[in-house]
Amino acid sequence: MQFNTYTAAGAHIAADLVNQPSPHAAWLTDLLSGHDVHQATADDAMVEDLRQWTLRLRPVFETTSAQQATLVDALLIAADCHPRLVSHDGLAHHLHYAPLHAPLPARVKALTAAGLAHLIADGAGGRLGRCGRSGCPLVFLDTSRNGRRHFCSVRCANAVNVSRYRTRHRQSG
Ligand SMILES: [Zn+2]
Ligand SMILES: [Zn+2]
Repeated sequence: MQFNTYTAAGAHIAADLVNQPSPHAAWLTDLLSGHDVHQATADDAMVEDLRQWTLRLRPVFETTSAQQATLVDALLIAADCHPRLVSHDGLAHHLHYAPLHAPLPARVKALTAAGLAHLIADGAGGRLGRCGRSGCPLVFLDTSRNGRRHFCSVRCANAVNVSRYRTRHRQSG
């Protein structure tokens, strides 16, 4: 499984959007530039526009496979996602999911919808998940080799392991 393509970037961006409760323009610009999104400079109105979109991304990480596909298919429609083969900035031809000069929010919607759709179509929808520590709202894209990740971070995994250990210890003592 490859997670390093531009299309997979859409799924990574989706997770990062969901995990940021208070996004702002500079943060969004950094996030998108970091994933080689073309002309990624964001402003406050774009952040607000994508905040609504992000509310629709979260359930994709929290639901089971059948619902997940239905949700993402609806995202493809809502984002008006159309694959385009483009070349810009000296790069080789690659897929975009909105016209090159569409407004940034439209391009991000199309890219995140397409990234999630490709994962599911590749049988990897189960790699989208929500942290298994109760109370932790963070979601993740599991890029591990065995695909058995349950937590957003080592910190949450350790917290759950410690509390399980204490529970066991109490029961046996
Ligand atoms: Zn491009
Ligand atoms: Zn967590």
